[in-house]
Parts: sequence; C-alpha cells; structure tokens
Amino acid sequence: MSTTSYAVAPPPVPSVPVIGSGQRFPVRRIFCVGRNYAAHVREMGGDTAREKPIFFTKPADAIVPDGADVPYPSATSDLHHEVELVLAIGQGGVDMSVEAAEAAIWGWAVGVDFTRRDLQAEAKSKGQPWDTAKAFDASAPIGAITPRSAVPRAAGHIRLSVNGAQRQDADLSDMIWSPTEIVMAASRLWRLMPGDLIYTGTPEGVAAVQRGDKVECAIDGLAPLSFRMV
Ligand code: MN
Repeated sequence: MSTTSYAVAPPPVPSVPVIGSGQRFPVRRIFCVGRNYAAHVREMGGDTAREKPIFFTKPADAIVPDGADVPYPSATSDLHHEVELVLAIGQGGVDMSVEAAEAAIWGWAVGVDFTRRDLQAEAKSKGQPWDTAKAFDASAPIGAITPRSAVPRAAGHIRLSVNGAQRQDADLSDMIWSPTEIVMAASRLWRLMPGDLIYTGTPEGVAAVQRGDKVECAIDGLAPLSFRMV
C-alpha cells in the first residue's frame, strides 16, 4: 500500500466543539438559506411570498469556532451580522422524506452569517453572484453544537447583541421554512453528507459591526456564542 504524496500540505479539517463531550464535529460544507424570516425579507426590500428556499454556500474553513476573535474582512465598509440557527447534518442522503430529514439533523448551534452588505447590494443590482459578499474568510462564526439527543427540537428566542445593545431578537417559530423543510429542500439540490452545516437564515435587525465590537448571540437551550471583532 502506497502513501499519497501531496504537492502542498493537505488542509486541516475544520471542526466545531460538541457540548457535553470532548468530541468535535468535522465540517464538510456550509450551506446557507436566504430570506427565511418575513420581517427580514421586508427590511431588505423583498417580497415575502413563500417561494422555494434560496441557498448559497460558504467554504468549510469560513467557520470561526471556540469564540475566537473575528478579523474584520477586507474590501467592505458595511459588514453586517446575521444571527442564525445552524443545523449540523449527521446522516446524508438525497430527496429526503420528512422522516429522513428529521433524522439527518445531528445537532444545532447558533452562528453568524457575516455579510459584506455593500458588495451584496452591488451584486444584486448587477445580477452577479454573491460569493464575495458571503463566502469570505472567517464569515461564519459558530457556537458549540448541542446534539439533538440533548435538545430534540430547537425552539424559542434567537438574539444577537453588540456591546450589550440588542440588535436582533426574534423567535425560531418566525422562520418561513422549518429546519426539516430546509433539509428536504437542500437534499433535492445536493447529496447531503455527514459534516454539512446549514445556516437557516436571519431575523430582522441586521446592522453593521466595527473593529473592537463585542458580539453575543444566543438561542434558547443551545450553547451561546460570544466573540470580538478585531
Ligand atoms: Mn443569512
């Protein structure tokens, strides 16, 4: 048996701590849902009619786990926070049924989908892709994952504060598409795999952060997330 010889060092596996164990959850891909809370759709000037969920992606190594500092990215002067429920996929599959989609969710976390809002507005106006607005380095801070064996259903408040001032405060029941519906929809577009994360969209109250800001996020029943912008 020969050992593979890599031309450059192979990248490390990005991972997120799991609450209540010494284990970490290995991240394979990051999917994100846009426009999943009606009040946020309205604040972005959109139409709240229920259409198919909109997906975009980030690279797996965009995560910032363990409450590490988040570097303010290049090429923007309007970096917005979007607090979101994150699904951690433990069982893969395609064209999932309701039951399969529920069983596929291994755990939950609170995360932030950071957005270069100025670049997103430019992309939207020109009909260009969102990658530079969404899929940049360190654009996906995430708290520790709570297994579904401990919390069978994510429910209750989702909130984010900056320097102690509340910016986003909503209820997960305000989501247009439920976690199960999101997993089903994603499984019609990709073969979901263990290690995939799905950021499920943000409620209203998105706004800019600056270097030095302290950002605190929470979802009832899940491990909180706190980090500083540097
Ligand atoms: Mn988002």
